[in-house]
Amino acid sequence: MDTFGLKIIASDKVFYEGRCRNLIIPAPDGEVGLLPHHENMVIAIEVGIARMEVEAGEWNEIAVGTGFAEIVNNRVTLLVDTAERPEDIDVRRAQEQKERAEEQMRQKRSIQQYYHTQASLARAMNRLRLAQDKKWNL
Ligand code: ATP
Repeated sequence: MDTFGLKIIASDKVFYEGRCRNLIIPAPDGEVGLLPHHENMVIAIEVGIARMEVEAGEWNEIAVGTGFAEIVNNRVTLLVDTAERPEDIDVRRAQEQKERAEEQMRQKRSIQQYYHTQASLARAMNRLRLAQDKKWNL
């Protein structure tokens, strides 16, 4: 089967660079699937779970933060603020992030702080969701 070049860049690291057969990303209107030779475009990415098929039938899940995907000439670049594999997720830290964000959401703060906290809460809940999925798959 055909593949495409994939590079996943998070703010602190190059998370993945290599070939990919199929990539599913969380976009504002729902999941978007990217196969080889997809038309060139830019797609926004929401906090959620991306799935990539590197070897046939082998899917890897990634907790991603917001960003965008750029598709140019059968090469896909994902630029996201955070990216974690299920096994890299520190569940206790995510639980603390969630509780901290929930507490901050209860306080009267600026609208800017509110959106910042809301984004942090979404990332924490997404990490917990992926870590939980992993637990159930064991
Ligand atoms: P907050 O969401 O409260 O601002 P933070 O600043 O620690 O917490 P992020 O800004 O979302 O978290 O991420 C910073 C870095 O830490 C990124 O590299 C992200 O992948 C990593 N990271 C954050 N939380 C976790 C976690 N629970 N488990 C593993 N890695 C994490």
